[in-house]
Amino acid sequence: MRRRIRPRSSWTSTAPGGERIPAPAEWWLHHTAGPKPIGGASATLAREEKLIRATRAYHVQGRGFQDIAYSWGEMPSERLYDLRGPFRSGGHTRGRNHVSYAVVIFGEYHTRDTVTRGMVQAIRYLVWKATVEEWVQPGTYPTGGHRQAPEAATSCPGDRAMAKLAKMREPYEPPRSFTIRKPNGEVVQRSGEKTEELVARFLKRMDVGTRFKVRRIR
Ligand SMILES: [Zn+2]
Repeated sequence: MRRRIRPRSSWTSTAPGGERIPAPAEWWLHHTAGPKPIGGASATLAREEKLIRATRAYHVQGRGFQDIAYSWGEMPSERLYDLRGPFRSGGHTRGRNHVSYAVVIFGEYHTRDTVTRGMVQAIRYLVWKATVEEWVQPGTYPTGGHRQAPEAATSCPGDRAMAKLAKMREPYEPPRSFTIRKPNGEVVQRSGEKTEELVARFLKRMDVGTRFKVRRIR
């Protein structure tokens, strides 16, 4: 499956809310605990986009947040969505909203829905993407479930999601073929067999603040 993060513009024309924050070193896993099953691979884009809009409307109008609470969202279909996206404070984890990101899994993971292997792999992809794009400090993996955050008083993200957290923290196997380009288009690294660690080591050697684009060519 070709992994990607669907852009915010796929589900809303509104601008992302929250304050600008520097690349954090932690992020927290949540679930929506939504009342209705969403459907897995069979869920349509239209259904997922509508659900994200409804969640945003609840957070903004119902709870007074500046935007949907979370940084990224994952659906049971394995699709990932940009919500507030990188470098934005959130409304997700009391006491940590300006120093962390949040990824939310849509669904109820106490007793109803199941975190599939594909969903775990998508979270790993998100972590990898955030690392190579420098949205996070190097070596940042999902810190824990919401319930483990210092000021949390919640059972979020559900026992079933908690049980998969260790697997989500394992490294993503990146595409076997990809290029890394400087912003001017110059190819600085071309790889057939590079692992996440090699990419991370490579990026660390480069100037801080330089943005690189990793493009999958397979
Ligand atoms: Zn939560």
